[in-house]
Amino acid sequence: MEFRLGDRRPCIALVATLGDRGMPEPLERIPDPETLARWCVEGGFLPLSPRISVAELASARLLREAIYRAACAVRQAHKPLSEDVATINIWATRGTLVPVLTSDGRSADWKSERTLSPVLATIARDAIDMLTGTPAARIKLCADSTCRGLFVDESRPGKRRWCSMNFCGNRAKSRTFARRHREA
Ligand SMILES: [Zn+2]
Repeated sequence: MEFRLGDRRPCIALVATLGDRGMPEPLERIPDPETLARWCVEGGFLPLSPRISVAELASARLLREAIYRAACAVRQAHKPLSEDVATINIWATRGTLVPVLTSDGRSADWKSERTLSPVLATIARDAIDMLTGTPAARIKLCADSTCRGLFVDESRPGKRRWCSMNFCGNRAKSRTFARRHREA
């Protein structure tokens, strides 16, 4: 299963592990601890697979949905649920991943860890950063009715419609193309 990582910021990358949010049965991209471990590596959080328990998988999903709901509330100028705020805050107090400078002095990596906790802590702090540092109008849901994925519109005009040009944007473009082709 593809994770749809792209160059998303950490909290958006976690939220995107539940796909097809516009459907009655969303697509779970981290169905088991092993897949979550693989996501941590492919997402660039950890160099080696961490050991993850079933309880930790549940915590990751809980944090994911707390971030999603809080972002949905904020973008509509509503207060997030207090339990979602609490979930994000609890994770944000934990020890985060530690950045390390690579030998060329020009790029950074995360210090190697073998547990999930610092990944979730880093994501929770990123969520706080996003929720407090982004104008509400720039916190958006994908225009694709199946996807409805969360994204931050950082384009200058602020007219971005899709969570990712590579996935939903291209799908929309090819649908438009097919329709025009049929009509012609
Ligand atoms: Zn999308």
